[in-house]
Amino acid sequence: MSERQKEGLDYGVKTPFVYASVLLENGRAFGKLGATFFQCPYDTFQWVSAGPTTTVGGYEPPRGPDDPMVLLLMHSPMTDPKGTLTAREQLRLGRHKIYATPFADYEAEIRSQLQGLMGAQGFNHEKDIRAITVNRIPHGYAYPYLALDDPEWEKGQAPHEIGRAQFGRISIANSDSEAIPLMDAAFDAAWRAVEEQT
Ligand SMILES: Cc1cc2nc3c(=O)[nH]c(=O)nc-3n(C[C@H](O)[C@H](O)[C@H](O)COP(=O)(O)OP(=O)(O)OC[C@H]3O[C@@H](n4cnc5c(N)ncnc54)[C@H](O)[C@@H]3O)c2cc1C
Repeated sequence: MSERQKEGLDYGVKTPFVYASVLLENGRAFGKLGATFFQCPYDTFQWVSAGPTTTVGGYEPPRGPDDPMVLLLMHSPMTDPKGTLTAREQLRLGRHKIYATPFADYEAEIRSQLQGLMGAQGFNHEKDIRAITVNRIPHGYAYPYLALDDPEWEKGQAPHEIGRAQFGRISIANSDSEAIPLMDAAFDAAWRAVEEQT
């Protein structure tokens, strides 16, 4: 494989993030906030939302504020607030930050953040939190080019296009090869790879 193709494959850096689920004793304090989704850009968990209202495998969403409820929190590690690093460098550092952060630190952040958000509504994190799960996703979304750091490549010259070129009997699928972090991109890539081989 040429060095150019290797560099193309190496270019994209996966976006790391953390999803936490927090089971609450009840939804009374959260219900008093009057919204189901909060963006908290200066907090560790930038998103706080009510869990999806899914009924699956014996799990049922709450029917009222007295029922237990699940909150879904998303954390995207910020590593360079002054902005001296490229996004790809920050994503790499963010991944290491996720690996190096123990559960106890996430738990402390979650307790403090939720207390700040709902304390005035009567929330007491010591009594009202029943369980916390923290899902670390250090290799998360495929890298989408960012106008701040990446040039506008001519068609066919972007790193993911050079990297995904058929290599003998090997065809390269996956969402990285489309530089789009979505499921439909993975489908398109799989279709292309199979077409190449057939
Ligand atoms: C938390 C999260 C939420 C998301 N939400 C959405 C959403 O709401 N909508 C959306 O469109 N997209 C979403 N995405 C993105 C979407 O899931 C991905 O774009 C898509 O799954 C990528 O598909 P893929 O085939 O490229 O890779 P993957 O789905 O990662 O598949 C790669 C497979 O290869 C296997 N594998 C790895 N190494 C080996 C090996 N050596 N041998 C054999 N098998 C191996 C892995 O186990 C895996 O099954 C989300 C992603 C994450 C992480």
